[in-house]
Amino acid sequence: MTSAQPKVALSLIRATGRTHLGNYLGASRSFAELDARDDISCIFGVATLHSLTTLGDPSALKRDIRGVVVDFLAAGVDPERSVIFDQTAIPETLQLAWILSCITTAGRLERMHHWKEKKDKLSELGQAANVGLFTYPILMAADILGPAADIVPVGEDQLQHVEFARDLALRFNHLYGDYFKVPALLERAAIRVPGLSASGKMGKSEGDKATLYLSDEYKAQWKKMKVAPTDPARVRLQDPGSPDNCNIGKLHGVLDAMGLHEEGGLQWVREGCTQAQFGCATCKQKALDVMEEGFLREVRERRQEVVARGDSYIDEILNAGNVAARARIQPVVEGAMQAVGLITRWV
Ligand code: ADP
Repeated sequence: MTSAQPKVALSLIRATGRTHLGNYLGASRSFAELDARDDISCIFGVATLHSLTTLGDPSALKRDIRGVVVDFLAAGVDPERSVIFDQTAIPETLQLAWILSCITTAGRLERMHHWKEKKDKLSELGQAANVGLFTYPILMAADILGPAADIVPVGEDQLQHVEFARDLALRFNHLYGDYFKVPALLERAAIRVPGLSASGKMGKSEGDKATLYLSDEYKAQWKKMKVAPTDPARVRLQDPGSPDNCNIGKLHGVLDAMGLHEEGGLQWVREGCTQAQFGCATCKQKALDVMEEGFLREVRERRQEVVARGDSYIDEILNAGNVAARARIQPVVEGAMQAVGLITRWV
């Protein structure tokens, strides 16, 4: 009797700065959980090409590529079990992205939240958005469909892009015959980690003050948490507030949803705030301590072990992962090229 083929989980993270709490809770924590399962085979990548949509400093990009791999390992991904690769090493993904762009309308891309938000933000700064940002979802769809992924673990901000990849698979299949596997939707509700500033999600582009970096020491993390704004209604200690009007309150909600709070922990936070039983510093301290005990310390320690093994260790992982990922993706893309009528081998 042959056992069922393992499902394929795929996800990429951009190399655009240090990994933060949003990346961890939204994505890489679940990478480690999926990595540990025998019924799932994982492919995790550094989205180096997507990183170029945020034009920056080439030497910083080079450094951050290895940094993302360190973060995968620090989160608990085992490179002996999962494939870890660099998006740039798979040129076939770009061939597939082109084919997919030819079955996508500009109107569809114009409606993507990510595009609208980024474009407006850049325009506020007097800058124009690049076409890479516009076609970002197509490249992401190629990342997903190329290795025929079943599961795409991402944070809430990327859900629309996964939906888009599903739609493109269906459209391709409708036009050219049943070819692509349509990736599933997430098994669990997607996570959105709020930033430490008054509004928005935590993100590399949301600014340093809003972002809690995983590699920082506890003291540095506390320094940021301490000054994070809370519900403006809580002017004095005796003024009640609402955790729903406060990003620290929302963070407690995320921690609870992920099972990181002890029994009754979230209720304690809510009552403390709505009945003014304690001040915001206590609530912040609680959030940081729950995270420190739940994962921050462990991730920090694992990171130190990985970093101590040097760049060559990371490069070896990437080299092996690039070969394995390409071996999986290349035939899928070749099949897609043939399906649309391209000739892939002239003999
Ligand atoms: P960033 O948004 O920081 O630039 P990426 O775009 O590389 O990071 O996203 C990598 C992964 O991290 C994606 O799965 C994304 O959904 C997740 N992610 C990023 N920020 C958050 C957040 N604030 N909450 C939940 N998940 C997030």
